[in-house]
Amino acid sequence: MILIGTMNLTRTHDRGDFYCPTCAMIQTYRLRARRPWLTLYFIPTVPVGGPEFFVQCDQCRSTWDPTVLEMDQQSHETALEDQFHDEALRAAVLVVIADDEITENEINALQRVASHLLDRPVDREELGRLCSIAQQNNIVATNYVLTVSRRWSQQQRVQALQGMFLAASAEGEMGSEQIEVLTDMREILELTNAEFEAAIEEALTWEAV
Ligand SMILES: [Zn+2]
Repeated sequence: MILIGTMNLTRTHDRGDFYCPTCAMIQTYRLRARRPWLTLYFIPTVPVGGPEFFVQCDQCRSTWDPTVLEMDQQSHETALEDQFHDEALRAAVLVVIADDEITENEINALQRVASHLLDRPVDREELGRLCSIAQQNNIVATNYVLTVSRRWSQQQRVQALQGMFLAASAEGEMGSEQIEVLTDMREILELTNAEFEAAIEEALTWEAV
């Protein structure tokens, strides 16, 4: 009987420095290629597919598509910042729709939050689209923030909380449900009581663009 099988062989093709998005700093990398081979009695004999290239960080071992090498620190940080703004706005929307209704005051508050976060005016149509996407996905605000906030810096955590606070307090007095959500957020975002209070005080000075 002839023993035939396949195995993946990984080889290093190049080395260099790159901006590792996981480490958030310049690290050394290896450009590697994984390729399936046909084996005969467990010995690789012929390649049976094309090589699949990937970049691996020497420090954290994260692997990336080779396009990561084209990304410099600046463009990576800009992309992350844009992503944060979208996430913080979505969190504020989720706080508003937690009670299944959206009032005129809440729409105005969300517009204020959106224009502050995105640094541009946001019309009702765009906001309406965001609300309906959030409603369809049916995610609870705290669960959403628990997941996405892992990437957020301290400053971003504060900013996101401010947005959620303004959205929650749109009606003047906050309902017990919204107070509960904000209290949970303080814990999820790992803010001290002093940081929480300072953030809320500052949020009251946010103006619409
Ligand atoms: Zn790394």
